[in-house]
Amino acid sequence: MSAPTDPRRAIFLDRDGTLIHDPGYLGDPAGVALLPDVADGLRALVAAGLIPVIVTNQSGIARGRYTPEDYARVEARVFEVLGAEGIDVLATYYCPYHPEGTVPAFTREHEDRKPGPGMWLRAAADHGLDLPGSWSIGDGERDIVAAKRAGSRAVLLAGGRDKWPMPVEGPYDADFVARDFREAVLFILRAEGRALPAAPGAALAPGPHA
Ligand SMILES: [Mg+2]
Repeated sequence: MSAPTDPRRAIFLDRDGTLIHDPGYLGDPAGVALLPDVADGLRALVAAGLIPVIVTNQSGIARGRYTPEDYARVEARVFEVLGAEGIDVLATYYCPYHPEGTVPAFTREHEDRKPGPGMWLRAAADHGLDLPGSWSIGDGERDIVAAKRAGSRAVLLAGGRDKWPMPVEGPYDADFVARDFREAVLFILRAEGRALPAAPGAALAPGPHA
């Protein structure tokens, strides 16, 4: 049991291209599919005391590609899929705004829109989260910039399996650049001084390149 005075620490997670397959402007819950190693990785991070929070830009709402109601159905499906894996997400924060949208109500800049840190700051205020003690994982430069502006540590997924190869150039100011979710989790566990899952054949066991 943690002492009641322990700060609550989060693992802030980008959604599209980090947790789930990113087909571009996902507005259909049937398209929700977890990426490899995400379930195992999140379970390991939760075991290390980090509370999952999703932070996601959803400019498709401002662009009229899907509605807030469509978004809500996708979000519910993400919670359902993760819940089936035994993973409870504390909260999701999403930003529907974009300065070049087509839906007037959502067409503007907003500090929640990554690389703005607004979603991290709101989550910390809403849930009493310790940002310097928290981590973030995302597959885009804007994820890292937002996380660092908020005061969190950050791991960039570069060259992931689910997207075009992202050149590792910067400066992104990431604490680590990982090739995939598994490597990101292993880095965070090491930094936390946690024993690595090492059961033979375990999805998160260090591989030949670890
Ligand atoms: Mg992404």
